[in-house]
Amino acid sequence: MQKELQITAIRTSEGIVIGKAYIFSQITEECLGISGIRISEEQTDSEIKRLEDALKKTRDEIESVRNEVAKKAGLKHAQIFDAHLLILEDQVFINQIKKLITKKHYNVKDAFCTIAKEYLKSFEGITDKYFRERTADIKDVFRRVIHNLTGYTKISLAGLKEDVIVIAHDLSPSETATMHKERVIGLVTEIGGPTSHTAIMARAMEIPAVTGADKITEIIHEGDLLIVDGSAGIIIINPSEKQIDQYKHKQQIALERKARLFIIKDEPAITADNHRVSLLANIEIPEEAKHAMNQGAEGIGLYRTEFFFMNRNDLPSEDEQYEAYAHVARVCGKKPVVIRTLDLGGDKFASALNIPKEMNPFMGWRAIRMCLERTDIFKAQLRAILRASETGNVKIMFPMIATVQEVRSAKKIIEEAKNELRNEGKSFDENIQIGVMIEIPSAAIIADILAEETDFFSIGTNDLIQYCLAVDRVNEKTAHMYDPLNIAIIRMIKVVIDAAHNVSYINEDCRKNEVCPFTWNTNRKPIKVCVCGEIASEPLLAYLLLGLGIDELSTAAISIPQNKQLLRASSYQSAVKTAVEALKMYNSDDVKELLIKQILDLNLEK
Ligand code: PEP
Ligand code: MG
Repeated sequence: MQKELQITAIRTSEGIVIGKAYIFSQITEECLGISGIRISEEQTDSEIKRLEDALKKTRDEIESVRNEVAKKAGLKHAQIFDAHLLILEDQVFINQIKKLITKKHYNVKDAFCTIAKEYLKSFEGITDKYFRERTADIKDVFRRVIHNLTGYTKISLAGLKEDVIVIAHDLSPSETATMHKERVIGLVTEIGGPTSHTAIMARAMEIPAVTGADKITEIIHEGDLLIVDGSAGIIIINPSEKQIDQYKHKQQIALERKARLFIIKDEPAITADNHRVSLLANIEIPEEAKHAMNQGAEGIGLYRTEFFFMNRNDLPSEDEQYEAYAHVARVCGKKPVVIRTLDLGGDKFASALNIPKEMNPFMGWRAIRMCLERTDIFKAQLRAILRASETGNVKIMFPMIATVQEVRSAKKIIEEAKNELRNEGKSFDENIQIGVMIEIPSAAIIADILAEETDFFSIGTNDLIQYCLAVDRVNEKTAHMYDPLNIAIIRMIKVVIDAAHNVSYINEDCRKNEVCPFTWNTNRKPIKVCVCGEIASEPLLAYLLLGLGIDELSTAAISIPQNKQLLRASSYQSAVKTAVEALKMYNSDDVKELLIKQILDLNLEK
């Protein structure tokens, strides 16, 4: 057995776990590629047999899924798998693969991938929606065949039989969302950073995680005993007895702290000098709402609806969406529920939409940009949200807003949806509030204009930081540059909060002489502003946000008690003074030092 080894990477989701490693090897682009290795004449028969075996195994797998779906959801839903089976019986397709093996001596995987790629290419130019959407199904079938040809068996983390710590090169947000929640006790990935959606899911599921652990899939072996400390970003492979005892002790201390914090969950979120900040929860799936309420959430500040569109081959219907949104609204009662419209793209994809690969997916055809073109999808979602507004205190929020025109276009579609519902006699909240995410620098700069058009703001710092500093939020190599305390970020947040609160920096002289490039409309009503990015759960940042004048903090449910403790121990006046001091500083190290000192002075329990 390998000697104990400690590795430090990026702390991503807090908590300590001790358990066995499970190496999750996905099919990556490389293994879909062509190796170029040729076989000998004698090997052709065995390669053909491998192909036939893999096709049969795939057929059996699909048939068994088909039967299960038929049982659970009815024949109509199972029919999609008939189309999958047809591909596997397409003799033209199969003969082409066989020909490459027998005539050109391709190895079976190269032969399969070559023909599979040509097959997929033939779908590329087709404009018919139905056929385009079938490409995702075909890819799925091909993926299964390749799994069966190459022996990659771990294609899902849903069916795990024992508790494991998953070790992977990368995990997509959808793989994370569908993994067996009770069995996966920890996560370690080679790539990704703390604000990737995989990391966000891990926190939502309260699974300790470390990301950016270079070459970890090569270092760790299946079944190795591991300690993963998600709060410190540490992985210990084959730990000593002494280390196990130490970490079990740390685990115990963390559990006791959690229990003590939980006691204050129903106390008001108010500073020692009576300043109130609402503490809300971010959720990804409807089932999380109840847990959020149990942690003392004063509502849902961000419901990321895109997870509803992932892990499925079709689009959710309006009724299905309505059920989910109404469920969350009901669970929250009178408390607000901010439902964010579809924010697909970036690192979140829906197979049914078949979004083409882009060079810069975070800056591409995503979120509101896609919704304003695919108004069929957008309007179905808006109708579902509007209908759900009857059951609770629902609000609508648009992601990735860059211009005021986008807000106006989106609002126009809400009006259309409202009219349709009125004509159909379906009720909804006529005065439903509409807000926008401020997560693109252009939106921050025109926040005063956007405030005229909307009822609330939510600052999405996960994206705002990446776009403002030009640092990819999911790239572990640039994670050290992703600095929420960068002076530009602090100033930008301050500008947005002041714009929302209608605080004008422009003095009368400036206004009279018209020397300012813009003037703020001082007559408009102030609106509330929330921060729903991951920084809202970092104590140093939460304290700074308090001082900058934030109205609401929306975080993973697990962080609510900790934020409440911080608020209740703080003085708003001192936090404001600290923020003013920070705003005069020139670099983030100085701000950090200042904030650490303030937090230490609060004497919070560790
Ligand atoms: C953000 O960008 O800060 C945010 C909350 O949205 P998401 O993480 O889903 O992009
Ligand atoms: Mg975002």
